[in-house]
Amino acid sequence: MAPPLVTHTGGCHCGAVRFQVRAPARLTAWDCNCTVCAMKRNTHFVVPAEAFTLLSGEAQLTEYRWGTGVARHRFCASCGVQAFYHPRSNPDGVAVTIHCIDAGTVEAVTVCSFDGLNWEAAFAASGIAAHSVAPAPAAAQISEEAAAS
Ligand SMILES: [Zn+2]
Repeated sequence: MAPPLVTHTGGCHCGAVRFQVRAPARLTAWDCNCTVCAMKRNTHFVVPAEAFTLLSGEAQLTEYRWGTGVARHRFCASCGVQAFYHPRSNPDGVAVTIHCIDAGTVEAVTVCSFDGLNWEAAFAASGIAAHSVAPAPAAAQISEEAAAS
């Protein structure tokens, strides 16, 4: 059964970019070693797009793309902080920087290594693509009922 979700809030350093995100209190985050994530120390958790709400700062966001151009690295033009982005692994989802979440709602973070320097193999082995897929409540309910009978 999927863990219950809580509402985390967070944003960039200057406060222009603010968001809320529905995710478990115990997060699984990814520490990627690709050239750009390594420079930014980008450790992030991935959620379906519908779990993420940008509250403010859309006009402050600047976008950086490189390599395949799929990942949309969006950062605050005032303070330079990337509080979230749209990763190559989950272009349909949002990756949220764990260090940009406000204190008080995160109970634990399990950090997994993502070998972004060998991206294709890491992507296939990690199961990260599933992190931006919303669980299907109807299907889960059916399987629980089936298990109970
Ligand atoms: Zn900022």
